[in-house]
Amino acid sequence: MTKNLDIPMKEATDAYLDIEIFVNCPHCDFLIDLLNEGDTNNHNHNEEGHVIRQACGDGLSVDLHKQFEVNNVTCSECENAFNVKGLTR
Ligand SMILES: [Zn+2]
Repeated sequence: MTKNLDIPMKEATDAYLDIEIFVNCPHCDFLIDLLNEGDTNNHNHNEEGHVIRQACGDGLSVDLHKQFEVNNVTCSECENAFNVKGLTR
């Protein structure tokens, strides 16, 4: 018997993915997680995976990150809107 088969099924667990993509509000400098509706005035910018797909892509493409774009983000703190262009860090 191999070592892997000795692991009881009850020790298996499911994984979860937690991604955060940060921007500073250009109006008030509030740190916003684009994937957290609580930070973006209750708006889900990642409908149909729009934001995550742009951010992750193949994981390495620099060109893809220059094209990263999220429009009409509303800051929960000051309620001003702005666009995000580029993912640089
Ligand atoms: Zn703000």
